[in-house]
Amino acid sequence: MREPRAHTAAGETFAALSHAGFLQGHILAPFKRQGAGAAAGSSWQYAGNNGVPPLFSRIAEASLAELLDRAQRRSSPQVTRTPAGLYFFALPLGGAPSPWCLACGGVRDARLDLLRVEELAVSLGEDPLRLLEEFESLPVATFGSVAELAGRTFALVRLLGGHDLVPAHGPEGDELLRLVLELSAELDRAATRDDVIALLAESLGILFDLQGVATILPAEGGPGWQVCPAWGAEFTPFTLQDQGARHCLGGQTVRLPVHDLAGFLPSYAGNNGICVPLLAGDATLGALLLVGERLRGNDLLMQELLIGRAAARIAGVQRERQQTEQVERAERLVQIFTELTMVEGMEELCRNVLERGAKLVGARSGSLMLLDRQKEFLTIAAVKGMHPMLARRFTVKLGSGIAGQVALTGQPVLVNDIVNDERFTIGHRSRFKTGSLISLPLSCRDETVGVLNLADRADQTPFGNDDLELLTRLATHAAGLLLRMKTHEGVRLLERLSITDPLTELYNRRFLERRMDEELSRSVRNGLRLSVMMLDLDNFKLYNDLCGHPAGDRALRKVAQLLQRSVREMDVVTRYGGEEFCILLPDTPNVDAHFVAERIRYAIEHELFAGEEGLPSSTLTISIGIATYPDNGATAADLISTADVALYQAKAEGRNRIVSSLDLPTASRFRIVAPSPQQTH
Ligand code: GH3
Ligand code: MG
Ligand code: MG
Repeated sequence: MREPRAHTAAGETFAALSHAGFLQGHILAPFKRQGAGAAAGSSWQYAGNNGVPPLFSRIAEASLAELLDRAQRRSSPQVTRTPAGLYFFALPLGGAPSPWCLACGGVRDARLDLLRVEELAVSLGEDPLRLLEEFESLPVATFGSVAELAGRTFALVRLLGGHDLVPAHGPEGDELLRLVLELSAELDRAATRDDVIALLAESLGILFDLQGVATILPAEGGPGWQVCPAWGAEFTPFTLQDQGARHCLGGQTVRLPVHDLAGFLPSYAGNNGICVPLLAGDATLGALLLVGERLRGNDLLMQELLIGRAAARIAGVQRERQQTEQVERAERLVQIFTELTMVEGMEELCRNVLERGAKLVGARSGSLMLLDRQKEFLTIAAVKGMHPMLARRFTVKLGSGIAGQVALTGQPVLVNDIVNDERFTIGHRSRFKTGSLISLPLSCRDETVGVLNLADRADQTPFGNDDLELLTRLATHAAGLLLRMKTHEGVRLLERLSITDPLTELYNRRFLERRMDEELSRSVRNGLRLSVMMLDLDNFKLYNDLCGHPAGDRALRKVAQLLQRSVREMDVVTRYGGEEFCILLPDTPNVDAHFVAERIRYAIEHELFAGEEGLPSSTLTISIGIATYPDNGATAADLISTADVALYQAKAEGRNRIVSSLDLPTASRFRIVAPSPQQTH
């Protein structure tokens, strides 16, 4: 409140009123008269912060001025019912010469005048239906209840000294009020709900000489309200039955006569009591049970004032805690996102997403399912709390069961009663212990890649919407990563297929050409030798003819494995075509390559191949030609053709042998020599 602050009494009174429990949910507005007295031409101006509350445009300006005039003229609270059916009241703030007035609204009559609502909407340029909805949402009151509220407010104003005509309290009251206001400020600084309650109960108990103070607060982790001693007499906490709860938590201060209280709380028998709600806005946070004699008049007003202030602080503490929790959750999510981004491999990623999702919401079991390429079936890619062997056999058709529907619709599902939920048709109910399950789509940019299911929270409580919201954010991010990985793995697979020979699983000729260029430049750069070995099985056509093509294939695979085993990790074994192979041996001079070639030749000669005894030499053999950079050429083509020449030389010399280009006459080194007729079959 801006201006009334200058006028200390009115300003402080207004600030204190806004915490009064019985005014919670009402809209208060301070006004100040412009011009002198109630003379014609004088007018009222809003004197608070943030502009006139919108509610006050629902009362015609002339009616509001008339109401404020009346309150000031009569020095007492005045109530009005607008033609449409809203109640407002006004009362003077400060003494007779004071220009301040307080107006208050926020409730309506049970009967609204539709015609007048429509007229009002037209005059305000608003939608009549919208305005009617707004009016209907207000709590219902009667002229009498509003007058009573106005009376209580006025009494509080007088008590707080905002009305200096009639001093409502003596010197002792003054001291008490000062303490109450100081404690109010103290309450605003309390850090937790329990601190607020402890300070409040102690203050009330001591200041008003009470027998006892008890709290009625939401029971932890369950339904119902817990009654606990907070000051004075001790008793064992208990949960309030429905009836008692309604009695005390109706949003109004309730008197509890001696016999009522005795039935309700035997440890306080013989005393009167009141139950004062802890109201913050429209919400009832709980109630305070005060037991003793000083529970009326000014004492009650001050008690309600303190309790109202405490309720506002509790609501504030809860808001702050929620905000902190949100920030913490957001930070945890960011950390998870970062960690997931670094995970490699689809399987590992699925496992990680499931584990982290489960941890985030405290789930003990769950699964991550991926949709197949045809988008027909979901299969389990990661499980928690279920045997992986069983899980692998578990396939869900798109559209069936919860996960199937989630994948089909792309909408998450939160089930809190699995046994009775009709959507849940999978017959594995006994797996879930708490009956609470979250199933949400792993989708990103309208593409669903799978479903994340989580169940069985460790603390047995059901999942809530905030869990769903948190997991949705994780699921979206995870889906993005899964999609990217799927695409990436798809590309990698294609790439691998394009450079692999399907029969032997060796690299193919295309890969050889690429690698040879790379290896050559590396050898040039580092001044290293590079040997190239061309290998060709001897009389392989005959072997095929004798043993059949399938046996030939098996022999080729066996040779491929044997070659792979005979060379170093850095050497590159490729199937050059048919029964020809080519091996690149980086950083290998000709003589060393010769050793390797001999090892291969010997190994093949001594390896058993089915049916080889029918061959002229009774065993399958191989011929090998070797060329070396830089001795036999500087380009890939040179080296390969030179190795080829050497290979043909080996064939010409009788097969099952090795010829190195260095041993060839210079003229034939770079020339492909056509095999002589007796060398072909
Ligand atoms: P040489 O000792 O002169 O090399 O005689 P060869 O019979 O091995 O030579 P040729 O090039 O005439 O025959 C190669 C044979 O290799 C022809 C074909 O039957 C066989 N072959 C080529 N590719 C495959 C294959 O993928 N599978 C099978 N089973 N045989 C193959
Ligand atoms: Mg051949
Ligand atoms: Mg051959």
